[in-house]
Amino acid sequence: MERRQFLTNTLGLAAAAQAPASASEIIIERAATGEPHKGKVLALVTPHLDDGPHFCCGTVAKLLKEGYTGYFIRTSNDEKDSFDLTLGETVAANERDTGEFLKACGLKQAFDLGYRNHRMDDVARTEIRARLIFLFRLLKVDTVFSYDPWGHYEENPDHYVTAQAVEAACWMSGGHLDMPEHFAAGLKPHSVREKYYFARGPQLVNRVVDIGPTVETKLACLRSCRTMMAHFVRDLNASLVEKNLRIPVFSGDETAAIHEFTRLRTENWDRVVGRKYGMDYAEEFHYIGPDKSMDEYVARHAEHI
Ligand SMILES: [Zn+2]
Repeated sequence: MERRQFLTNTLGLAAAAQAPASASEIIIERAATGEPHKGKVLALVTPHLDDGPHFCCGTVAKLLKEGYTGYFIRTSNDEKDSFDLTLGETVAANERDTGEFLKACGLKQAFDLGYRNHRMDDVARTEIRARLIFLFRLLKVDTVFSYDPWGHYEENPDHYVTAQAVEAACWMSGGHLDMPEHFAAGLKPHSVREKYYFARGPQLVNRVVDIGPTVETKLACLRSCRTMMAHFVRDLNASLVEKNLRIPVFSGDETAAIHEFTRLRTENWDRVVGRKYGMDYAEEFHYIGPDKSMDEYVARHAEHI
């Protein structure tokens, strides 16, 4: 997440603007009763700890409540995201916060791939893809959440490099000739069937998820990224000082400042998105589901053997 754009939206200086291509194409996903997803596995795959909390953890929390088991795959080491820590201290602080994020969200385990923050365009995408294929097969991932590899005007290389590796790994993990050495280790081909892509800029939105019932969990996820949220707050304070201004709630106790800052984030972003669709809070995605084009034919013609 880039700080400048986040601050603009959080302060309400501009509405989150992701116009859907066509209202008729949008599916609204609301809370389900019971655990219809029991037995399914989701993976949140992002370069940075705070990407999921900003863009999709209301939906991730909803799906976990509905029975999914969830994992977090963090591709970068987040070494650049603190206000005044050293590079090494920043890696350790965000690693600790990752543990808090897992608890806040209800995810089972994190895998840190550890690539250098803001330098992922220097890494072979085939290597990242290979590591993701291994994890998708190992964890038997059915559903992924990640940046939209086709989102527009993305300026952070970590975001689009991760997104492209995720998209390719989702289908290649199902191939019996892709990395066959995995099968000698006991793994099996396993395609990812559902993708929820989010973006910071314009994207083709075809699914909107009502996160009203899980917005408190989303807030807890944001607040668990304490080092990063403190970075936002202190960047804001520094920019205000340059104009001889201060906001008292952001200038005192850090916990109170983060609390208010994250509250503003959901009010000025998720609530704005929700209002477009008649909901209190919502998250937007480009959703790609399983190919069902053969289902009817199979139902009509398949025989038991
Ligand atoms: Zn990010």
